Amino acid sequence: MVGGESQKKRVVVVGGGVGGAFLAKKMQFDADVVLIDPKEYFEIPWACLRSMVEPSFAERALIKHTDYFTNGRVVTSHAIGITESEVLTEDGQTIKYDYLALATGHADPTPRSRKDRLEQFRQENDKIKSSSSVLIIGGGRMGVELAGEIAADYPEKNVTLIHDGPRLLEYIGPKASNKALKWLKSKRVEVLLEQSVDLDSITEGERVFTTSAGKSITADCLFVCVGSRPLGSTWLQETFLKESLDKSGRLMVDETLRVKGRSNIFAIGDITDIREIKLGYLAQKHAAVVAKNLKLLMEGGRESKLATYKAASTMVVVALGRKQAVAQLPFMTIGGRLPGMFKSKDLFVGWMRKGIGLDPRAV
Ligand SMILES: Cc1cc2nc3c(=O)[nH]c(=O)nc-3n(C[C@H](O)[C@H](O)[C@H](O)COP(=O)(O)OP(=O)(O)OC[C@H]3O[C@@H](n4cnc5c(N)ncnc54)[C@H](O)[C@@H]3O)c2cc1C
Repeated sequence: MVGGESQKKRVVVVGGGVGGAFLAKKMQFDADVVLIDPKEYFEIPWACLRSMVEPSFAERALIKHTDYFTNGRVVTSHAIGITESEVLTEDGQTIKYDYLALATGHADPTPRSRKDRLEQFRQENDKIKSSSSVLIIGGGRMGVELAGEIAADYPEKNVTLIHDGPRLLEYIGPKASNKALKWLKSKRVEVLLEQSVDLDSITEGERVFTTSAGKSITADCLFVCVGSRPLGSTWLQETFLKESLDKSGRLMVDETLRVKGRSNIFAIGDITDIREIKLGYLAQKHAAVVAKNLKLLMEGGRESKLATYKAASTMVVVALGRKQAVAQLPFMTIGGRLPGMFKSKDLFVGWMRKGIGLDPRAV
């Protein structure tokens, strides 16, 4: 054994998304850290829409775990089970832990290798470039940001955005919805509200789509951005933590971000039941609180000294192409270039890279 290393406590972080990546990075010199993630890279999730119109953008937004997490072990596999002292992975490993941090936010089916993910963006981009008309189903943040990216970069294409609800971006306020709608219309995006397309009836290569209102839409390419992305907690349903999941599958945590009733298991990010809009910058705040608490517990500090987390009043910025955005702040909603300067130019990619100790610009 190398001197000292063996005495370090083992912290296992499950999920290498925004929260997990930041936590692993923060803990790597204080504990024996193992990061379990099915991908060999950390992806800045909201950059994927820009990467579909500009595939090279993904070069900075897909970061190999080993590039920022240099003093720990990466296990490239899904976690499929846990006991009170071990995590089991799909590739057959059993990993012991002293402390566990669950950060499995959303389980999007993305490729394991960074190279394949980059190729996926190239293919999406070819699909967009070779189409003269695009149909996007779903007017949540994914559908709206994608429509914005395509409308801004390919103004000659006919873009239709269809949403089954009464307004776009229903997870935030109506003012933000209206501003986004107005901007999309100004860019010639046809927005159809309170209409849907039966996804089960769509066949491969189909170009004509009929909406629930009987409208016929012709589109060379289709993007489906509907429904909530699957939460990364299904695997916990067969474990002793199943009692710790709320009705929607989120882990119930206390104010120290420990799973309720557990002394050595924490949860951060979208997987938690914290009553706030689920956002990456909040997942990072959770990671900072948990890092503090892990360090304190490992040093034998008192429970009463544990840091606590208070649900934040949120700030949401939805990018509308490369220059504009709509921002919902605690006391007002603004649209246009000002919030656009904040998010839309670089989509916080440089800032996120800096946050994990990498050059904001270079790959
Ligand atoms: C279109 C869009 C725009 C957004 N814009 C913003 C924005 O501007 N600002 C902002 O702050 N937030 C934004 N968000 C929200 C942000 O992306 C999420 O809140 C954030 O990614 C949550 O981080 P997380 O670590 O909890 O989960 P995720 O980032 O979802 O990471 C979860 C990780 O866990 C892994 N995982 C899942 N299951 C398992 C398993 N069984 N075993 C091991 N690993 C597993 C996944 O592969 C993934 O790596 C946006 C989201 C979308 C969709």
